[in-house]
Amino acid sequence: MEEEKKIKKPRGIARLIPDKCIACGARCQASCPKDAIEMNDKGEPIINVEKCIGCRKCVKVCPADALEMYYTPEEQRILAEIAARAKGTADKELSIDEAATLAEIKEYRGVWVFVEHTGGEPAVVSWELLGAGAALAMTLDVELCSVVIGDKVEGLCQESFAYGASRVYLIDDPVFHHYRTEPYYKAVCYLADKYKPEIILVGATGLGRDLAGAVATKLSTGLTADCTGLATDDRGFLLQTRPAFGGNIMATILTERTRPQMATVRPHVMPLPERDASRKGEIVRESIQLSEEAIATKVLQVIEDIRKGWECIDLGEAEVIVSGGRGMGSWENFVMLQKLADELNGVVGCSRAVVEAGWMPAERQVGQTGKTVRPKLYIACGISGAIQHLVGMQGSDIIIAINQDRKAPIFEVATYGIVGDVFQIVPAIINRIKELRARGQVVTYKDV
Ligand SMILES: Cc1cc2nc3c(=O)[nH]c(=O)nc-3n(C[C@H](O)[C@H](O)[C@H](O)COP(=O)(O)OP(=O)(O)OC[C@H]3O[C@@H](n4cnc5c(N)ncnc54)[C@H](O)[C@@H]3O)c2cc1C
Repeated sequence: MEEEKKIKKPRGIARLIPDKCIACGARCQASCPKDAIEMNDKGEPIINVEKCIGCRKCVKVCPADALEMYYTPEEQRILAEIAARAKGTADKELSIDEAATLAEIKEYRGVWVFVEHTGGEPAVVSWELLGAGAALAMTLDVELCSVVIGDKVEGLCQESFAYGASRVYLIDDPVFHHYRTEPYYKAVCYLADKYKPEIILVGATGLGRDLAGAVATKLSTGLTADCTGLATDDRGFLLQTRPAFGGNIMATILTERTRPQMATVRPHVMPLPERDASRKGEIVRESIQLSEEAIATKVLQVIEDIRKGWECIDLGEAEVIVSGGRGMGSWENFVMLQKLADELNGVVGCSRAVVEAGWMPAERQVGQTGKTVRPKLYIACGISGAIQHLVGMQGSDIIIAINQDRKAPIFEVATYGIVGDVFQIVPAIINRIKELRARGQVVTYKDV
């Protein structure tokens, strides 16, 4: 079959719709990358048609919808042709504006994952996202790429290939030695403007939340935070699922009119893909003109987290978590859970009710507003299984629930359920483990 000839999409120029401007304070002027907008005495934009490149940034930022794109009759004819071709993928007739939007978003291709690191030490969530990104890229039949920005971080490119990326966009420069919002967001926006990815995934860590918000704002596109599910629909749009209304419903959010589609995902929500060191890929080296003097934020000192004891445990990294809920009755009873955790080489977690009661520090909380965990074994003791708790632990390999209420929702996600009093069952398990050990039988979480 003869391949359909590609039509170049006309860009049009922005123009003001009379009487709609609310003189918001020149947001359109600030968004214009070509200085094509001047403001008149009334605070309304005057667009220089010679300079306008039809990038639509001013149209997108206008809070009063007072700007629109103008196309000449010839451009309208081309857009009508694009609309007619696109009809096959849309279930309704498209207006000129819709066709222009569709044609614009079709220019974006590929799935990108931002590789987070601290001094070259990668955050595991980046590799988890490469796993999720690989599934999306395969469905969309596009390339999976990663973005590596830092100082002497080329090693992360090979790691990206090992976890599934086939191309890495690398910006390696001393100005990126420490993470700072300004240089990092400018670097990501520079790459996105140049290479136009359709999806960008970022870890929902402190750094990732900061960066993704700044990038989405600058690119005037949508961002869905803390996604727990990513898929695509039959148009190839990203379906971004996350808890909403206090976790009582799961909402699926789409970015229909702008690109890239951006999502953050918390660590341990997605499984870690298999690492294959033999995989190879292409490194695209880029640079961006940014001088240290032009960056307002300076890093004077980096102070390491030296918290000790109950507060310094990294729940996200633990293979075994023994978690307690309100059913534990008091903070003293968590000593019993710590004993069980010690026997299994694990750590103690808890529900939010426990944190609110002041029995455990917030660092130990599992769930929507706490940590998301994915251990090999999760033992839930006296936890009812509210949805806000479940979203933080239901990806665990094995879940053992101990609860005296046989109707408790925790049993719906449990691999094994024990109906009974936690104060009888937990000591019995500890004694059994000790017994097996005394007989010389090795006990790991697999034997519980
Ligand atoms: C916006 C929002 C965010 C939230 N985020 C989180 C979050 O991140 N994490 C989280 O955990 N919660 C979160 N919550 C709170 C959540 O809705 C629940 O209130 C909380 O998880 C309940 O904790 P729990 O299961 O320990 O307590 P309860 O619901 O009171 O359950 C206690 C359970 O212990 C059992 N029990 C009592 N005694 C015994 C015994 N002797 N032996 C065995 N079983 C016993 C009971 O049968 C009961 O099922 C959030 C809520 C909101 C609104």
